[in-house]
Amino acid sequence: SHGRVINFGAGPSALPTSVLEEATNGLLNFNGTGLGIAEISHRSKEFTKYLSEVESSIRKLLDVPTTHHILFTQGGGSAQFSAIVLNLLARHRLLHPNLTDDERVMDYVLTGSWSKKASEEAKRLGGGKVNIVTDARKFSKDQKSFDNIPAHDSYTFSCDPALIYYCENETVDGVQFSPDDSSPSSFPFHLPKQSSLLPLVGDHSSSFMSRPIARLAEHAVIYAGAQKNIGPAGLTVLIVRHDCIVDVDAAAKLGAAPVPLTMSYKTLADSGSLYNTPPVLPIYITGLVLQHALKQGGLERYAALNTRKAEKLYAAVREGADKGVLQAKVKEGSGSQMNIVFDVIKGDLRTFVGDAEASGMKGLAGHRSVGGVRISIYNAVTEEETDRVINYIKCFVDKNS
Ligand code: PMP
Repeated sequence: SHGRVINFGAGPSALPTSVLEEATNGLLNFNGTGLGIAEISHRSKEFTKYLSEVESSIRKLLDVPTTHHILFTQGGGSAQFSAIVLNLLARHRLLHPNLTDDERVMDYVLTGSWSKKASEEAKRLGGGKVNIVTDARKFSKDQKSFDNIPAHDSYTFSCDPALIYYCENETVDGVQFSPDDSSPSSFPFHLPKQSSLLPLVGDHSSSFMSRPIARLAEHAVIYAGAQKNIGPAGLTVLIVRHDCIVDVDAAAKLGAAPVPLTMSYKTLADSGSLYNTPPVLPIYITGLVLQHALKQGGLERYAALNTRKAEKLYAAVREGADKGVLQAKVKEGSGSQMNIVFDVIKGDLRTFVGDAEASGMKGLAGHRSVGGVRISIYNAVTEEETDRVINYIKCFVDKNS
């Protein structure tokens, strides 16, 4: 309807059509106020009520315990690369005021280009040393690509780090921790024991709300940009354990870096995420998507659906590889359920992407840094739509084998 095609883009990405239709009403008249959602005050009682409902939807869907705050902010995942470091170094400073910068360590699990970028920002900001817990490239086929989740016994953590960082789903490289406990690439990895609560940080941007989050309660911070499964770009959702909401100014007095107010988790928490004007429209649409998800049966249903969609798609890629036309890019067992990546080795990649577009399927080109094909099948991409691209792959493979 509305001339819409199937959107396999990696983000911003497909949203449920019914939700977008509903949102057009809110753009004109938000919940009977007579004002459009992009025009109404973020301090109006209607909007603040809505914001608290969005929070409850997140709590319900992910079963977030009361130990954790839910905060809303802007700046995308990238702003969190910095905010995480600043807030958790401040926390660490308050816990261990006398360590030198060299003794203050941040542990990064490198599984792809997003965790790598996050670790580079930590290095750039300083105030602590970066320890690479494991680097997946060392275990890859060509020693240089991110094509696997390393086995847990390769992880070396430091003692009492300021943070332990991982990226749950690497959107560019198409690798993801497995939900299957018996898999060598499962999450959690062997979490280290330490004296204070574990400062475990997860970037869940591209898998947020696609399935339940394993060991959520043990996380210090989970964050996600909205623009994959839950809404438009412009909103970042944070789930932050209470001990990570710290007085950053007190930490600065002890020598920690000053934290910009808009990046301080304490500012966000103290103001109910309304320190400054929040992204009202993205919050609105995200709220509608989450209500829709609840009505659809919540994350158990999406988990089952997303597993089925991904398994079928990987099977088609394997078949294409057996016939010498396609080549999987990631190690079996490490593949993402959200972003399926592969190469076309016989036949033309541009034809693959171009003919798909001509038949109403957009967004199949791989990330500019890695090329190839990337098919993103977020929550809003239905099983029927997934079947469409699978049939397309099968035809392409038959034509070229
Ligand atoms: N982390 C992951 C896993 C991502 O997929 C992205 C963006 N695609 C980012 C972080 C960066 O997010 P943003 O573009 O919102 O800054």
